[in-house]
Amino acid sequence: MSVRTRIAPAPSGDLHVGNVRTALFSWAYARRHEGRFLLRIEDTDASRVSDEAVEATQEILRWVGLDWDEGPGIDGPYAPYRQSERRAIYEQALETLEARGHAYRCYCTAQELAERNAAARAAGRAPGYDGRCRHLGPDARRAFEAEGRSHVLRFPMPAGQTTWTDLVRGDITIAHDQIPDFALTRSDGGPLYVLAAAVDDVAMKLTHIVRGEDLVAATPRQMAIYAALDYPRESWPQFAHLPLLVGADHKPLSKRNGEVSLRHYRDAGFLPEAMLNYLALLGWSLAPDRELFTIAEMVQAFDLAKVSKNPARFDLKKLEAINGEKIRAMTEAELVVTLQPWMRGAGLSDDVGFLQAAVPLVQSRMVRLTEAPELLRFLLVAEEDFLVVDRELLGEAARPVLDAAIAALEPMPVWSAELAEAALRAALVEGLGLKPRNAFGPVRVAVTGRRISPPLFESLELLGRERSLRRLAQARADIDG
Ligand code: GLU
Repeated sequence: MSVRTRIAPAPSGDLHVGNVRTALFSWAYARRHEGRFLLRIEDTDASRVSDEAVEATQEILRWVGLDWDEGPGIDGPYAPYRQSERRAIYEQALETLEARGHAYRCYCTAQELAERNAAARAAGRAPGYDGRCRHLGPDARRAFEAEGRSHVLRFPMPAGQTTWTDLVRGDITIAHDQIPDFALTRSDGGPLYVLAAAVDDVAMKLTHIVRGEDLVAATPRQMAIYAALDYPRESWPQFAHLPLLVGADHKPLSKRNGEVSLRHYRDAGFLPEAMLNYLALLGWSLAPDRELFTIAEMVQAFDLAKVSKNPARFDLKKLEAINGEKIRAMTEAELVVTLQPWMRGAGLSDDVGFLQAAVPLVQSRMVRLTEAPELLRFLLVAEEDFLVVDRELLGEAARPVLDAAIAALEPMPVWSAELAEAALRAALVEGLGLKPRNAFGPVRVAVTGRRISPPLFESLELLGRERSLRRLAQARADIDG
């Protein structure tokens, strides 16, 4: 039987990096086994899901490179892949469940449920549905209906326990007395996640459900639904629950302890391959001490059985380090093309000739693509707009340094990085007896405007004789006030 996996987001905003990690593992497993990867949109809660979010979810998955074989925009044998378009399928399942006594109408109001939960807590009992409507007779039902109450359908959890061999977590047993009768529908009759996903996972012939550990509790419920709907055992998927993602504070990763939207990372200058490489490390590793790999290498080696059970900590510094490595691993030509939109976005020229010359200066200095326009801006701004951002090194002490630098650079017959280096070393380090940092710091600030810049001598060469000398003279004049 060929592998079929899925990612099933309920898009209400930006896609969470946790969902993307899940999508990656699910996708990698399908790709490893030459199976199929599905995108299913879980949009049955119209109050939470918007079309824009559904569109944005697809766009960001495409950006990061997790392509799906069946799903919105592609369709496939089990279309439609948006749950909002599958209502009839759920209604049919609900009718079957009710007809067979596997669903009952519950008329309890939200307020009644809250009161009884509070009372249970006060009495030291676990909260959760107490089964009040499980055995309502027809008269009681009619009375509630006459009152105008709406109902939900609830699943009467049978006695017993559910055991499965989780592909990540091993054998798991959950006793059903831990599981109160749960709702299958909203009060408007629409299906809830637990029912819709159970029906679809089997209908779409999924073989492996890869999802977060927070959904372990859904599994015995969904298996009970499979059984109640008489789905043959062979059609039940296997389950793999991935470890929790936590922030630096060891609490579940959320907006409170970090940036969680994948779009944020895209917009902050991270490469898709860096995101995937990093997310892969959150629960899996290619080999001990091997943190950098391509996605093709990941796919080749990926195995759900090798996924860790321990919570995985999201570490921005490590993500940045990996992004820096991926930037360094690009060819210059690739980096030129990658940087063009970032240059345009910063209002700077994206000229290929310029970038070809400039890329070698910045390639090893960036951990985010957003740094490129900042590092290169000084080369592109018009002289009248050039601004010395970091003035700290341009005090009295810089006066003789800049004088000597100008005197050394002015007579150079050819304007090159090599000659500039030789001239400045001779004049400032040997001539004035300065440490390189004190010698070159003021020159750097004068010509680039910043204390952190691409390498100084190459910068001088790219900036050219006239502009370099003009900036040095300007800085010198500024000191005199
Ligand atoms: N829509 C659910 C979620 O985003 C899917 C859970 C599952 O994978 O079963 O959490």
